[in-house]
Amino acid sequence: MPDVLVAGGGPTGLLTAYELERAGLDVLVLERDARPTTQSKALAVQPRSIEVLEDRGLLAAVEPYVEARLPAGHFSGIRIDYADLPTRFPYQLGVEQAYVAAAIEARLRTPVLRGAAVTAVEQDDEGVTVTAGGRDHRAGWLVAADGGHSTVRTLLRAAFPGTSARFSLVVADFTLASKPAGLADDWQLPSGTAGFLLPLSGGRYRAVVGGEEQQRLGRDAPVTAEELQRALTDAYGPGIEVGEVLWASRFGDAARQLERYRHGRVLFAGDAAHIHLPVGGQGLNLGLQDAVNLGWKLAAQVRGHAPDGLLDSYHDERHPVSARVLVSTRAQGGLGVPDPYAAAVREIVAGLLAGPEARRSVALELSGIGITYPGIIGRATGVPVAPDGRAVLVGASLPVGWADRVETREGTEPQLVRPDGYVVWAGGPGLDTALRRWFGPNE
Ligand SMILES: Cc1cc2nc3c(=O)[nH]c(=O)nc-3n(C[C@H](O)[C@H](O)[C@H](O)COP(=O)(O)OP(=O)(O)OC[C@H]3O[C@@H](n4cnc5c(N)ncnc54)[C@H](O)[C@@H]3O)c2cc1C
Repeated sequence: MPDVLVAGGGPTGLLTAYELERAGLDVLVLERDARPTTQSKALAVQPRSIEVLEDRGLLAAVEPYVEARLPAGHFSGIRIDYADLPTRFPYQLGVEQAYVAAAIEARLRTPVLRGAAVTAVEQDDEGVTVTAGGRDHRAGWLVAADGGHSTVRTLLRAAFPGTSARFSLVVADFTLASKPAGLADDWQLPSGTAGFLLPLSGGRYRAVVGGEEQQRLGRDAPVTAEELQRALTDAYGPGIEVGEVLWASRFGDAARQLERYRHGRVLFAGDAAHIHLPVGGQGLNLGLQDAVNLGWKLAAQVRGHAPDGLLDSYHDERHPVSARVLVSTRAQGGLGVPDPYAAAVREIVAGLLAGPEARRSVALELSGIGITYPGIIGRATGVPVAPDGRAVLVGASLPVGWADRVETREGTEPQLVRPDGYVVWAGGPGLDTALRRWFGPNE
C-alpha cells in the first residue's frame, strides 16, 4: 500500500509526487487521461518556479524546449520589468506547460497510473480509499491535484467560494495558411487581457481571443475554425488565414478558492484548490509552489516526526498567497474590459506602475520572488535542496538528534533551510528552537 495517493498527473500532482518520493515515501499517481497531454494551457514559468526547478535539477530537462526568455512580466498587459529582481533568473521562461510536466514525470520513480479517473473517495481514521479506473486504491493520505474541475473537491463537497465568470475567452493553437504583414516572429508580452497571438515552435501559433461572439456562445460550445478565423480577422485584418486548428478551448474569469486546503486526510493543491483568470501567468506557478510547500510537510507527517501544526501550516502559508493572486487577477481582468471606465483606470494604473517602487512591488508578486510566510527569514539562494528531501544546515554544527531530517554543509553564511528552500534561521541564538519548530523533537 502506498503512503500517499495523488489524484491528477498535471504539473502540480507530478511535482508533489516528486517531492514525496524524494523524502522516501511510496506514492501512486492516479491520472484520468490515457496518455500524457501534448496540449499546454500555460506558456510562462515565473522566476521563483525557475528557481524551484533548478534547485531540483529539473531545469536542464526543460531548457531544450524554452522558446523565449522574457525580461519582464505584465500586469494586465502593462509591462513590469524584472531586471532588478534579486534572483539568478530575472525573466519568465516561455515554455509550453506540457514540457514542464514531462520533465518532472521523466524523473519520477513513482508510477503514474493512466486511464484512472477518480470517481469515489472515502476516508476514515487510518486512511483514504480512492476508486479510480474502476479499482479501489488505499493509502494513508490523498493529495487532490485533479485540476480546476476537481472531482475530489466535488465528492468531498468542499466549499469553494468566489466569483463566477463574467466574460469568456478562447485559447487556440493552430497553423496559419497566411500570415498578416508585420506579425512578430518572436514572443511578445501581451498588451492587454483581451487577446494576443504568438508563434510557437513547429509553425504553430497560439491565440487568445475574447470578442463579442465569444461572450454570446455558451461555455460548452465547440470552438470552430470559422469562429477563430472571424476573431483573428477582426483583430489582425483580412491578411490572416487559419490553417489547421490543433487544439482549442474556452475559459473565463471565474475566481474561486477552497475555504480549507485540508479535509482530514485529503489535501488540495494547484487548480483543484484555486482558479482565476490566467492573466499574468500565475496558475502553474502557484501549483508548483503548493507542491513544494506540501511535499515535505506531508512526508514528515507520514514518517511521524512532524511537529504539531506543521501539516496545517500548508493551508496557513499557501492560502493567503493564492488569495492575493485572486485579487491581482481580478484587478487585471477589470482593467482589461473594453470600456472607457476600465480604460481610464488602466491609464492611471499604468502611470503609477511607471514609478520604481510600485513596479518593483508588483514584480516581486508576479515573479513569486516576493513570496514569504510567517517566521521565514527569506529564500535561500545558492543552497540546492538535499536529494533525499532533508532540510539543509549550512555553516553550523547540528545538535544531536536531527541528522535524519537535516543535512549539514560547509559554508560561511550560517542558515537553516527548509526542504522547500526557505530560511528559518540565519545564525545567532535560536537554532534549537527553529529545529524543533519545523522538524520536530530531537530523537
Ligand atoms: C489559456 C490559459 C493560459 C494559461 N497560462 C498560464 C501561464 O502562462 N502561466 C501559468 O502559470 N499558468 C497559466 N495557466 C494556468 C495553468 O495552466 C494551470 O494553473 C495549471 O495547469 C495547473 O496545474 P494543475 O496540475 O494544478 O492542474 P491541471 O494542469 O489541470 O492538471 C490536472 C490533472 O488532473 C487530471 N484529472 C482531472 N480529473 C481527474 C480525475 N477525476 N481523476 C484523475 N485525474 C484527473 C487531468 O487529466 C490533469 O492531468 C493558464 C491557463 C489557461 C486556461
